[in-house]
Amino acid sequence: MSDLWPRLEPLLARVEKPARYIGMERGAVRPQPGPGQAAFLLIYPDTYEIGLPNQGLQILYEILNERADATAERAYAPWTDMEGELRRSGLPLFSVDTHRPASEFDVLAFNLSAELVYTNLLNCVDLAGVPIRNEDRGPQHPVVIAGGHCTYNPEPLAGYVDAFVIGDGEEVISEVAVVVGAWKRGGRASREAVLRDLATIPGVYVPAMYDVEYDGQALRSVTPRFADVPATVDKRTVADLADWPYPKNQLVPLVEVVHDRLNVEIFRGCTRGCRFCQAGMITRPVRERPEEQVRTMVSEGLKRTGYDEVALTSLSSADFSGIDGVVASIVNEQEGTGGVSLSLPSLRVDAFTVGIASQIQKVRRTGLTFAPEAGSWRLRQVINKLILEDDLYGAVDSAYSQGWRRVKLYFLTGLPTEMDEDTLGIAELAKNVVEIGRKYTKQASATVSVGGFVPKPHTPFQWFGQNGTEELRRKIHLLRSELRGSKAQIKWHEPAATFAEGIASRGDRRIGRVIERVWREGGTFQEWSEHFALDRWIDAMAAEGLDPDWYVTRHRTFDEVLPWDHVTAGLHKDFLWQDWQAALAEHGLPDCRWTPCYDCGVCTDYALEHVVASPVAPAGGSQGTGQDWSSGGAVPVRLLPSRAAP
Ligand code: SF4
Repeated sequence: MSDLWPRLEPLLARVEKPARYIGMERGAVRPQPGPGQAAFLLIYPDTYEIGLPNQGLQILYEILNERADATAERAYAPWTDMEGELRRSGLPLFSVDTHRPASEFDVLAFNLSAELVYTNLLNCVDLAGVPIRNEDRGPQHPVVIAGGHCTYNPEPLAGYVDAFVIGDGEEVISEVAVVVGAWKRGGRASREAVLRDLATIPGVYVPAMYDVEYDGQALRSVTPRFADVPATVDKRTVADLADWPYPKNQLVPLVEVVHDRLNVEIFRGCTRGCRFCQAGMITRPVRERPEEQVRTMVSEGLKRTGYDEVALTSLSSADFSGIDGVVASIVNEQEGTGGVSLSLPSLRVDAFTVGIASQIQKVRRTGLTFAPEAGSWRLRQVINKLILEDDLYGAVDSAYSQGWRRVKLYFLTGLPTEMDEDTLGIAELAKNVVEIGRKYTKQASATVSVGGFVPKPHTPFQWFGQNGTEELRRKIHLLRSELRGSKAQIKWHEPAATFAEGIASRGDRRIGRVIERVWREGGTFQEWSEHFALDRWIDAMAAEGLDPDWYVTRHRTFDEVLPWDHVTAGLHKDFLWQDWQAALAEHGLPDCRWTPCYDCGVCTDYALEHVVASPVAPAGGSQGTGQDWSSGGAVPVRLLPSRAAP
């Protein structure tokens, strides 16, 4: 095993933030893999600051290192200065834990949580000294795998990643370790054999095992090449978070990172049914962590890490059915300890109460972000974010009344059926929010953050033609003019980057060559505005003979074969289509936790159920308008023992 540290250390004086490459954080391990152990290098294809807090990688790091037959280390995409130093010195990508070369591992496992990091994946594989195209790899090379939300459309990277893991990784990673370990112990004889074995693990998609046919521009079919390879790859779902109290040893970074705090996941999944939200759709059903386990993870995590902030994370934290009790007990335990702050990311305005606001401010106030997403009730019905203006005003009133001076409001623009009056509604909401704040303090202000909408696979909006860059720019300009001179400050996401994200999000295998060209032209760190240029993407599309508008702004039809149809999150395609039609008809669809099941497919097909502490709808939880879609069936809900009904 080679330790590159003596050659890496001299480079650190020449790069910005050398602490990104050192390792040795609290919670880190330095495994020495034995000959029979599968050695994983878990790679986040963005900087250390973005990648270290990623909970998915931290969970897999612990699970793999607890196994006798596997080890796991970490790597992050080296920033451009470090990459330059590495390439000049002839040094490869390395693990931050033991500083071993990436090519010495058996598996390079990437987390893909955003499409614009795809070029960084290619760059990391290349820096590892591994051929970037999977067809050029031999048995001497590591297996390249990827997990994370983006893998629900694996096709753009199908020519570059050997195997995709779809869904929750806690269980399937061990099955992958068993297969790779056996391959290693067998002398890594044949690459084809290990890929065949991986393809038979439920939840694992191996693109080389499938043939793709086109009909002109359109995709005709994606079919398995062997009888034992599934035609459709189902996602993996952990039925009960109580079995997975990870991470137990959260990593404490050496430099400031995003989400720099103790993060405790309180539930996974969301059934609010926001139609734009891929995360909500693909992570169904709701699985709450037992309150007692949350409390233990918080108190032990704070003690062990020394953090003075804890975030209770999920897709919609105030929806946790035991939220009041958990917040109150954390507050009681921490009150008088010198200031631990509590944050609840992803707050639903209709579930945020003055009670929660006053509890949070007892410890220490952090920023409050609310996400109405659209500026009018009509458009919020289209996107199924069933928040009334009064809900929003009530929530911000609670916040300002408890001493907050600034709230952040998050919106999307470019949503289906959006008209200028909806866009301008954002400005009106923001101004009204500031007005409410001024009842309590003259310094009241609001930040309006506007993102461009990108339709995502496995959502009811997967058929929608995305707004082009000019249209998004026009809408943002409209908003800026309307908010000029007000106490609401606007921030927006660059429409050009939104367009490139659109190319990658709903792309097919042909988009892989576009991503490769963008990378070859120097297009790494595409999430970073200083490194992003849409021209590279448009030029690459032209060089590949592909029409950007066909991929991005074109509406799809129901009978079209979509590039991700052979991967399923359990949602029936006709359920998604009906929901898309309901969106166009401006019909909302209430949360299936509190109403009868709509038979979307997830619980029924996978024999799963919601796991909740309380079956009672919170404030705003059961609201909604429009048609009754219920199948009349009982909602599959399992109560956690501590709160079970008598
Ligand atoms: S199967 Fe029914 S209860 Fe389960 S997530 Fe889908 S709609 Fe909700």
